Amino acid sequence: MSFTAPDIPPADVFNRCVRCGLCLPTCPTYVETLVETSGPRGRIALIKAVAEGRLNLTSPGFVHQMSECLDCRACEAVCPSGVEYGRLLEPARTQVQRATAARQPWHVRTLRWFLLDRVFSSMALLRFVATLLRLSQKLGLQSLARATGLLRVLHLEDSEKLAPRISDRFFVPRDQRWSAEGKRKATVFMHAGCVMHVAFANVDEATVRVLQKAGCDVVAPSGQGCCGAINIHAGEMERGRQLAKRNITAFEGSGADVYIINAAGCGSTLKEYGNLFEDDPEWAQRAAAFSAQVRDVTEWLDEVGISPDLGAIERTITYQDPCHLVHAQRIAGAPRRLLAKIPGLRLREMPESSLCCGSAGIYNLTQPEMAERLQKRKVANIMRVTPEIVVTANPGCAMQMAAGLREAGAEISIKHVVEMLDEAYAAYSPSIRLEPASASSSV
Ligand code: SF4
Ligand code: SF4
Repeated sequence: MSFTAPDIPPADVFNRCVRCGLCLPTCPTYVETLVETSGPRGRIALIKAVAEGRLNLTSPGFVHQMSECLDCRACEAVCPSGVEYGRLLEPARTQVQRATAARQPWHVRTLRWFLLDRVFSSMALLRFVATLLRLSQKLGLQSLARATGLLRVLHLEDSEKLAPRISDRFFVPRDQRWSAEGKRKATVFMHAGCVMHVAFANVDEATVRVLQKAGCDVVAPSGQGCCGAINIHAGEMERGRQLAKRNITAFEGSGADVYIINAAGCGSTLKEYGNLFEDDPEWAQRAAAFSAQVRDVTEWLDEVGISPDLGAIERTITYQDPCHLVHAQRIAGAPRRLLAKIPGLRLREMPESSLCCGSAGIYNLTQPEMAERLQKRKVANIMRVTPEIVVTANPGCAMQMAAGLREAGAEISIKHVVEMLDEAYAAYSPSIRLEPASASSSV
């Protein structure tokens, strides 16, 4: 069985690979295993073999490799031939998912259906599930379920370990508008996110405040939703397109100049809506125009400049490069330049700061063993520079590193770049700290 339309990995992309191997040392699964097929060159060869009918789409080796790849895009960033690896993997996964869905174990099928088809498609449902999770976290029901073996029976042990701490209040986009401080530079669209708005509401709030201080009017249109990254990375491209259309439409009606995102994984997906709709004459142009206006919050703040009213934070930090910021969006300097503006902050670079931490969407559920190996490797690299805080720019990385550090017994906190800036503004003049009006809600 070979690939079938739609969503076939493009031959002009895989044929660009000249098999030089320059990508191998950057690939987390290759450096962990030293197995050719667990690296980008091997995986591209496998995709080409299926496309040419020399390998079956459902052969166990192919299925495993399409799942074991983290979609971290480290290989893509260093490839001298310009192989856009993400444009191969995501359709290849979609092909595998279509061909093997019926054979997956019941708990995988049920979890995929619940998360991908339901929860991430409806922000109201996601908030309802998050409210239940918050309640169970407050009442300690998870510990009870773990102790009684219920989580093991339901195959939810790994998911429970990684479940984020749900925020006490959520950041719900309800057509709010916050005014710029000082001279207005632009109107920006605030993407609240899916996991972000229920588990990192404080980061969304900090993002609004920092953008206001940078001279931006901030709007949070209610029509927005999940960016679709989780679906697309899990081989559900059609569902991803449905979610993308919602955000494109919300942005078009918002009057904003740019679309701001504070989660790196979502940012790279939003910037690639153009590719997602390239074969759709109705949406191709709208998607490309949308993607051209998307900015990661660190990229935007670095571009427009930030308020210099930063107080001192006397702490030692290290910075973790999220894969989808450094590799997919090629943004490494902007967050470091912003952090360097905070007086008193000492940045110690960790080894392998841009090697994936093993988070990668639902990778923890699909490849728990490799996810754990990479998590331990990341924790060891963090410990080498003994920071007080790990700063990053993506919720998935934050959750994965927090779980790893907790397990290692390390008392190191994790913060987003905008939280550090927000704290520095508060340290400069705490009396004028602003809560964004009606930014948050309990459900
Ligand atoms: S660096 Fe690019 S061309 Fe070289 S093996 Fe890797 S994907 Fe192929
Ligand atoms: S996307 Fe990441 S894990 Fe996958 S082949 Fe490329 S470097 Fe390796």
